[in-house]
Formats: sequence, structure tokens, C-alpha cells
Amino acid sequence: MPDHDSALQYDVAVVGGGPGGSTVATLARLGGARVLLLEKEASPAYKIGESLLPATIHGICPLLGVSDAIKKAKFVPKMGGTFRWGKSPEPWTFEFASSASMRGPTSTAFQVERIKFDRILLDNARDKGVDVRLGCAATGLLSDQGRVNGLTFLDSSGVSQNCRARYVVDASGHQTALAKAAGERIYSKFFQNIALFGYYRNGGRLPKPNQGNIFCAAFEHGWFWYIPLSDTLTSVGAVIGKEQAPILSSGYETAMSELISACAPVRDLLSGAERVTEGTYGQLRVRKDYSYSHTRFWAPGLVLVGDAACFIDPVFSSGVHLATYSGLLAARSINTCLENSLNEEECFGEFEARYRREYSHFYDFLLAFYDVDEDVDSYYWQARKILNSPESGNDAFIDLVAGVGGGGERLYGSAEEYLSERNGLGSVLFPDSSTDRSTNKKTEDKRAAFYTDLLGEITQVQVQAMWGDVRPSERPVFPGGLIPSQDGLHWTRPTVSKKAAGLRR
Ligand SMILES: Cc1cc2nc3c(=O)[nH]c(=O)nc-3n(C[C@H](O)[C@H](O)[C@H](O)COP(=O)(O)OP(=O)(O)OC[C@H]3O[C@@H](n4cnc5c(N)ncnc54)[C@H](O)[C@@H]3O)c2cc1C
Repeated sequence: MPDHDSALQYDVAVVGGGPGGSTVATLARLGGARVLLLEKEASPAYKIGESLLPATIHGICPLLGVSDAIKKAKFVPKMGGTFRWGKSPEPWTFEFASSASMRGPTSTAFQVERIKFDRILLDNARDKGVDVRLGCAATGLLSDQGRVNGLTFLDSSGVSQNCRARYVVDASGHQTALAKAAGERIYSKFFQNIALFGYYRNGGRLPKPNQGNIFCAAFEHGWFWYIPLSDTLTSVGAVIGKEQAPILSSGYETAMSELISACAPVRDLLSGAERVTEGTYGQLRVRKDYSYSHTRFWAPGLVLVGDAACFIDPVFSSGVHLATYSGLLAARSINTCLENSLNEEECFGEFEARYRREYSHFYDFLLAFYDVDEDVDSYYWQARKILNSPESGNDAFIDLVAGVGGGGERLYGSAEEYLSERNGLGSVLFPDSSTDRSTNKKTEDKRAAFYTDLLGEITQVQVQAMWGDVRPSERPVFPGGLIPSQDGLHWTRPTVSKKAAGLRR
């Protein structure tokens, strides 16, 4: 191994060229840092995570400078989500534009082929001056006196190299081997699902104007996603409970056919389709154990973004949003600390508190979403009637996602208290089958308010992108907390007194 004198020297070393890694690398570079990005694959490889949110497209992409490239890629426009879920037998649709704060051209997103999307972000990082090295796998961290100050990696020729950096970012995804240096991964006891997924040619489309939406259909064994990736290609995945794993023992092919047969809306959409059996999309794949959170998202000299830190459940397409949003928050903290303008504890405390807050928004949302009286005879849905379930056995996880130690989030004395505050969310989200949704204005209003709350941070990121260099001054999210700088790339203290500033919400 080379000695320290011959080590590469950077301000920031990023591990992973997915959306989280490319975002933090580009934004740290735009803040003036010298940045190295290591990606173990020779070029962006296949990944799941194809349905994006408006915050990524209209918030993060403009900040990165990739909006034109995204437009040119002609991804499938997504106006929202369509669901066959809950007691209502009819599919229902939510549109991003139904949030009062997000009407207009920024209320859309895209369904993307991840190889193409990730390549746009990675090429842009290189164009902006990041030293992007493909085929280079990080192998460990270097540290001194309790502080991470670099990493080791195998370069594309298989030679071991050292790199010194003031900050190392772990954006290496769910299989990270580095994140344990910042804490421990805690798995959700409730969200213990398995996803079986593949690709189909010439599947049907939802009626206009919902043809580009993600379609999620609940059925007795769990739920399906159905994501149109082009006029002819569709990503189809079944999410089933861990207790249903024996279904897979007959082989993925048989299991997929059986699951599709059991879900009428998806079976109908695929009636004239054939499964893709060759190339990138040619195999059926399985993912499990993907709902977790790390006990800490940073340690001195090290910061975790994206799946390296946490992920929850794919039903609301939060993964790429959380990865890119955490990349933005981490870059602000790094840029500010590199300029020595604020102390590290404060900057990374702000990063972690905002990141956990966004994660717990989705966690709350998903708890409510799975609180659905789908089918009392179905073991899957009975097991997921979580407001009456032994979720309290997972106190540590709940405390974690509720933001204990996160600096300013509401702290809950117990899991029961946490859950009791959430009672009734299910009825807000799901209309009673006996009522006509179109005339049930009260439910619609409550639902719109809930979405607006959920999408609050998303909207903030979009507004930030639209304002560019002339951001309006913001109030801190947490008491005594920091706010983004005018350029959006750093943290700063609010100029008004703390008392006058108050809390944003
Ligand atoms: C079943 C399922 C469905 C999903 N559906 C959606 C969806 O519809 N929408 C959505 O937004 N999200 C979805 N997600 C989540 C999404 O896949 C992830 O949240 C997202 O890809 C995270 O981005 P990332 O940049 O953190 O990590 P990744 O995209 O995983 O990127 C990590 C990168 O690090 C590289 N790497 C790993 N180890 C090393 C190393 N040692 N050295 C160098 N490089 C390394 C990898 O090659 C990879 O390129 C889904 C997840 C699952 C499990």
C-alpha cells in the first residue's frame, strides 16, 4: 500500500456514483471544493428506483444544472400516482398539482431508466470538475484520533490506493460497508417486505391523463407497482410480506406468474404483454431487508447520504428523493465547514435533523398507507394492521425515526404515544367505500392538507431552485437552527433574532 505522502489529496472523497453521490459531489464542487468520486462499476449499472418525485426533477436537477439533459432524455412524464388500494374497489389518483403549494409546471416528475438517469448526473459531476473515477471500489476508511480523514480503494487496474480528504461521503447505497463507522443499521420491524420484480414489453397503459403515473395495486398477498418506462417497456414488481417468502420457493418465474394472476388490475394490464428475458432487463430480481435507518448519519470526517443512511419502502417513490435531498444537505454542511464559517457539530446537526425529518415524513405517511382494511381474510393485510400491531417491540426504530436526538423534532415518550398521535391517518387517506369521493369534500380537504404537509420540504427545495441566487430569506426549521445561504450551497445563521424568526412550522 502506498505511504501517506503519495496519497491522493482532496477536500471531499465521495464513494458511489448513484444519485446521492453525484448530487453531493457536484454541489460540493460548485461550492469550491476539490472532489473525488469513486464508482465501483465501469459505467452506471442497472438499479431499481425508477419512479421519481418533483423535488428531484424541479428542485435538485436545476441546482445541479442537468434540467436540459433530463428534458432531452425524453423520460416518461409522471403527474402523480394511481392506486387500487384501501376499501374503495375503484382506482383513485393523486396528482402532485393537487398540493396548493406546488401547482404549475413544477408539479410533475418522470419515470426513468436508472442507467440513463444516473449517467446524466454522473457525467454532469465530471463536467462540473469532479474527479470521477469509474471501476474504483472503496475498500476502507482511514482515520486519525477518532476522525475519518481518507479512504483506501482499488483502482481500475486493481492497485490499492490511499486518498486523504477532509470529508468522506458514503453514498455507496444499501450494501455499504463503510457506514458502520458512523453507527449501527436498525431494521424496521414493521416494514419487512420482499420485492420480486421484472420488466414487460407491450403492457397496457392507464387511461389518459394518468398513462404516465405509477400504478400501485393492493391484493391479497401485498401490492404491485406498475411503472411505464417507455411506450413499450414497463417495470413490474410485487411486494409481499416476509411471511409470504415460501411463494418464492417454486422459483421466481412461477412465483411472478402466480402473483400476477392473483392481482386482477395488473393481470389485465399485462394480458397482451411478454416478459423481457434478455439484456439488462432480462431477469427477475429480488430485494429484501430494505427498510432501515442508521443510528447516526455522520461522524467526524464522515457523512452518510442516500441508501447508505436509510431507506423505508418503495410505495411512495421516496428513495431517489431522499438520496438527492440528503446530498444537498450534506454538501451545504461540507461547504460551510470547509470555509470554517460555522462549527461542524452545528452544520452536521442541521444536516441530520432535516434529513431525519424528511425520512420520518415518509415513515408516517407509509404507516398510514399500510393502515388499510384491505381484506380481513388476508394474512398479509392483517399482519399490517399496524395501529393495533406489536410495533411497540420496535421502540428503538420508532424513536429513531421520530427524531430522538435529531435536534428539534417532537420527541415521543413511548411508541404508544407516537402511534396514538397517528391514529386516524388511515381514514384521512382512504375514503370509506360507501362514500362518494367526489362529494366528500371534508375528506378531500384533509387529504390535500396531509399531502401538502408531506410535500412541504419538497416544495421548499423547488422554490430554492427557482429562486437561484436570490433566495428569499428563510426561517429556521428548528429552534436556533441554520438556514440555507443565498446561493443554497452553504448554511448560515438567520439574520433576524431567534425570537422574531420563530419556527417555519
Ligand atoms: C424494491 C425497491 C423499489 C424501489 N423503487 C423506487 C422508486 O420507484 N423510486 C425511488 O425514488 N426509489 C426507489 N427505490 C429506492 C432507490 O433504489 C434508492 O433509494 C436509490 O437508488 C438510492 O440512491 P443512492 O445514490 O443512495 O444509492 P445507489 O443508487 O444504490 O448508488 C450507490 C452507488 O455506489 C456504488 N458503490 C457501492 N459500493 C461501492 C464501493 N465500495 N466503492 C465505490 N462505489 C460503490 C454502486 O455501484 C452504486 O452505483 C426502490 C428500492 C427498492 C428496494
